[in-house]
Amino acid sequence: MTYRAPVADIAFTLKHGAGLHRMIQDGILGELDADLVDAVVTEAGRFATDVLAPLNQPGDKRGAAFKDGAVTMPPGWKEAYRSWAAAGWNALVAPSNWGGQGLPHAINAACIEMWSSASMAFSLGPLLTTAAVEALRAHGTDDLKKTYLPKLVSGEWMGTMEMTEPQAGSDVGALRTKAERAPDGTYRLTGQKIFITYGEHDLTDNIVHFVLARLPDAPAGTKGLSFFLVPKFLINGDGSLGARNDLRAHSIEHKLGIHASPTCTMVYGDHGGAKGFLIGEENRGMACMFTMMNLARLAVGLQGVGVAERATQQALAYARERKQGRAAGNSDSAPIIVYPDVRRMLLSMRALTRAARAICYSTAAATDRAQRATSDETRRKAHERAALLTPIAKAFSSDVGIEVASLGIQVHGGMGYIEETGAAQHLRDARIAAIYEGTNGIQALDLVSRKVPLADGTAVQSYIDELRRTVAAVNAANDPTFGSTGPRLSDALDHLDRTTAWLLKQLSKNPDTALAGATPYLRLFGAAAGGCLLAEEALAASRQPEGDTSDAAGRIALARFFAENIAVHAAGLATSTTDGAGALDAAPCDAAMEQH
Ligand SMILES: Cc1cc2nc3c(=O)[nH]c(=O)nc-3n(C[C@H](O)[C@H](O)[C@H](O)COP(=O)(O)OP(=O)(O)OC[C@H]3O[C@@H](n4cnc5c(N)ncnc54)[C@H](O)[C@@H]3O)c2cc1C
Repeated sequence: MTYRAPVADIAFTLKHGAGLHRMIQDGILGELDADLVDAVVTEAGRFATDVLAPLNQPGDKRGAAFKDGAVTMPPGWKEAYRSWAAAGWNALVAPSNWGGQGLPHAINAACIEMWSSASMAFSLGPLLTTAAVEALRAHGTDDLKKTYLPKLVSGEWMGTMEMTEPQAGSDVGALRTKAERAPDGTYRLTGQKIFITYGEHDLTDNIVHFVLARLPDAPAGTKGLSFFLVPKFLINGDGSLGARNDLRAHSIEHKLGIHASPTCTMVYGDHGGAKGFLIGEENRGMACMFTMMNLARLAVGLQGVGVAERATQQALAYARERKQGRAAGNSDSAPIIVYPDVRRMLLSMRALTRAARAICYSTAAATDRAQRATSDETRRKAHERAALLTPIAKAFSSDVGIEVASLGIQVHGGMGYIEETGAAQHLRDARIAAIYEGTNGIQALDLVSRKVPLADGTAVQSYIDELRRTVAAVNAANDPTFGSTGPRLSDALDHLDRTTAWLLKQLSKNPDTALAGATPYLRLFGAAAGGCLLAEEALAASRQPEGDTSDAAGRIALARFFAENIAVHAAGLATSTTDGAGALDAAPCDAAMEQH
């Protein structure tokens, strides 16, 4: 089943759900106007649909291959990557002085979604390169930037992100890869990294590794980590590729999904140490890694949206075609889409996908405001907003990717379980997004322990207040087609508000109790925010002039479905956040887990 990029929907969410329209009106996006947004999204959609989507299933079947330290990508991938980079897609957000196009992160978010729908295994490499570019741009020396940025921006070289080691997963501070100072001011790295995405491949002539390592005299934990740029091939004075650096891929993993994305074990220092260049300051590596990670976390949320979109398209097409039984009053066999339970599944898929899309694009737009707004105060608040929304964008949307892909299989019945249809691949691919870039459990801890308390809780409160204004506008519209959207969303926000206040209190008194409810709280946040953003889009569509193609009726119906069927889970999630900790304490948990 082919994927068709939903470019009109995506452009609509960018402008009205994420607020790009307002940013254009505020004049903070330079020359960008609504027509250019449409043109970029349309062109990216064409590339995703025509060039990348056909690689998805063959890439899954063939996978990346490892032999003698080299990784060969599946047939057609090298050509597709090269034409993708040549078309400038890798350079979308990078600043123009480094060869980029300087477009907003929100537009890049839309493109990442489409690349991920087309092929999640493909999107993963470039999204890490883009995140690495941001870290190098923000923290690198001028020399390093001059040598590496232009080629990483153009896509001629790709980047990796390297934290994980066998004993250091969520606990990054436990990593042991060693970096020793060399007399020439560079460093020598020795150690092993595991699960490194695109650590080795044949898409580009050079691979630039961004590696966290520890100096011999560094303090323990995350405060003793430094961030290094370690190229596969060292660069000569004239910019050409020089000697091979002392690093290699030892093997690649066999895994559940994203088969075409090589997941490598990397070995540093077989011959005395790989030459590395410090980025930022010694022992301050986590600050650099966070620059990289925040963008990558949002991008992983977008992978969830992308897979969900493709699974929804496929399930819808199947439900329109597959005939089973007879609908009441009709003697012909009926397509399964006539049955309310199938429609429930399809609407859940569509509504969750669109809500997650709106959350992710809003997060990207907040990053744009944080970088481009003219007043310090607006930039500060936008920075807080992006920080608050990032764990929700990552975890809510990657969970949505899994749920929607699973529903997609259900809509297909038995055929969904058979690999041939491709529905199963979506679920296999989507599953990793809840794990990498910090598991969704870790995202929930980040939300509760770091983001909710931001600015003494005013950052979260101002977001909830903003969502309430949308609900007030729905109520004021007095449009019966919204059904109970207003009251249901209002209830959801009340639960979010009360639970947030409870968490803020617990954090100072009983932090463990607060953290025990972190995952249901994150879901509650996603459900309340996602519902309000869909309502905002529905209102925006209903305000468009007569004859506009924004599909106000469809958007209102979807917002209503979300509010009446998904946002209503807020009550249970709130209870689970505040009252669910009891049985999680060690003693009751151990007792409950005991087998007799
Ligand atoms: C396909 C793939 C690609 C990857 N790509 C990269 C990459 O490019 N670069 C890279 O550096 N890494 C990469 N990773 C590693 C990935 O980021 C880690 O697997 C992930 O962060 C989880 O670490 P872990 O596997 O050690 O699990 P653990 O840390 O062992 O976690 C196991 C479980 O315990 C929970 N847990 C752990 N600690 C806590 C805590 N303090 N509080 C509450 N719950 C906790 C987790 O949420 C999880 O459910 C990749 C992994 C895979 C599978």
